[in-house]
Amino acid sequence: MKKLEEYVKSIPDFPEKGIIFRDVTSVLQDADGLHLAIDTMQEKIKDLDYDVVVGPESRGFIFGTPIAYNNHKPFVLIRKKGKLPRETVSATYDLEYGSATIEMHKDSIKPGQKVLIVDDLIATGGTTEAMIRLIESLGGEVAGVVVLIELAGLKGRERISRYRLESAICYE
Ligand code: AMP
Repeated sequence: MKKLEEYVKSIPDFPEKGIIFRDVTSVLQDADGLHLAIDTMQEKIKDLDYDVVVGPESRGFIFGTPIAYNNHKPFVLIRKKGKLPRETVSATYDLEYGSATIEMHKDSIKPGQKVLIVDDLIATGGTTEAMIRLIESLGGEVAGVVVLIELAGLKGRERISRYRLESAICYE
């Protein structure tokens, strides 16, 4: 049986020079890889108490939904600005060039609910930090964050150091 990290293909200089792109599609397109990814992420947070799973567009949906389904929890979507049809809250954060805005339905989390954030990858932690702001603005409590891949060199863990972060694979 292959190890989880063996399913991740690393593409140098994508989408621009100097970046090593860690491609999760190579994990997903293998039945064993997909099972191992979800099982490993779940195992990392098996002691965590949470009421709701939240995942961001688009790869957070892929990993968040099976974890919510397997543990009989609701799944809440965080989407890019302008995609959600009902009343939303939004958070804007800086990207390398420019900024991005993400949104969540106002009624998707009730005050006091414990939230598990699921995503494919944490790099600088900017996206995760914006998600935490959204969840807390609705009165939710972030119980933890689980990702398939952590790029430790970009120090996302330090940026969200007040919260528990679990990763299935960590690259230096
Ligand atoms: P960040 O907000 O910096 O933590 O970046 C988070 C998002 O950027 C992740 O959800 C990834 O989809 C994407 N990303 C950033 N760096 C990489 C990388 N080297 N390989 C693959 N995806 C990346």
